[in-house]
Amino acid sequence: MKIRETVKNFSPYNPGTAEAGIRMDKNESPFSLPEELKGKVLGELEKLTVNRYPQSSGDSLREKLADFHYLKKDNIVVGSGSDQLISYSTHLFAGKHAVVTPPTFSMYRFYAELNGLDVRPVPLGEDFGLQVKKIKDNLNGAAVVFLCSPNNPTGNTFDRGKIVEILETGVPVVLDEAYGEFADETNMNLIKGYDNLVVLRTFSKAFGLAGARVGFAAGDSDVVGHMLRVKPPYNLNSFSLRVAELLLDHYELVRDRIDLLTEQRKKLYNRFERYSHPSEANFLLMNLDASDYLLDRGISVRSFTGRLAEYIRVTVGTKEENDRFTHALKSYISDQI
Ligand code: PMP
Repeated sequence: MKIRETVKNFSPYNPGTAEAGIRMDKNESPFSLPEELKGKVLGELEKLTVNRYPQSSGDSLREKLADFHYLKKDNIVVGSGSDQLISYSTHLFAGKHAVVTPPTFSMYRFYAELNGLDVRPVPLGEDFGLQVKKIKDNLNGAAVVFLCSPNNPTGNTFDRGKIVEILETGVPVVLDEAYGEFADETNMNLIKGYDNLVVLRTFSKAFGLAGARVGFAAGDSDVVGHMLRVKPPYNLNSFSLRVAELLLDHYELVRDRIDLLTEQRKKLYNRFERYSHPSEANFLLMNLDASDYLLDRGISVRSFTGRLAEYIRVTVGTKEENDRFTHALKSYISDQI
């Protein structure tokens, strides 16, 4: 038996293993299904014919997403988490390398390498903004550029004009808006003007469905058509499809939670303004090396190596969780002085 060299040398995704009572490390929603919907979800479970395959491309969810975003079904492909769509994006476009802009979500590099693309990192600038000129210098032979806005783990969005400048080159751009619901504005509408743009969204963050694994990509019908060709059949299970549809039908409940988390993020930012990077996501990047200290006090946050070694990324939780976090971090800060 021979294993591919790429696989032998591969580092698996590290989700961070330390788990504490208060989990502020994975950018999940602190809220599970809204109480109002639990009965409905159970009702759906009862009705499910799990002996039958679901519709192969999740068309019922595609229809609802299209209505929700003023698009057509042909502009949408659904996936088992947006993670799966990142993977599809790395075998779709011709070219030799993928451009990524670290510090950013590690799965772009992961899937690009696994699927045989070289990776060209073009680091974000000092304020974690896009260095467009440097990106443009790396587009010759590029299969795809991955951008993440709001960017994980820095939290800031990228200037729309800079994204457009990259799109204008005609190179395929995958714009990951996993945290788009928490931002003041998104770039989803750019897909109407740029057929080289694919926008990724997920139900794992604002919709609180990380465990159900639902994401989608939106783009020009031509590129979406090609994605549909390479995706495995039945990639979304019947149950996840129905739960995601139910949440879209009751978006007002989701909206309330987004508003609550956004307000909590602003409060946390104000409390730790000296250390926090501006964020339009459900997390804050803080220039404090406090992860071990917090873990000892029952709170897990994300830590990093390299350029962000002195930082933590803190997922916004419930008011109670944020207050406990605040208390612990204030003692960390006063211990340092
Ligand atoms: N994109 C970004 C930027 C993320 O942070 C994450 C999850 N951490 C994902 C995509 C993947 O989300 P999922 O597969 O749960 O949709």
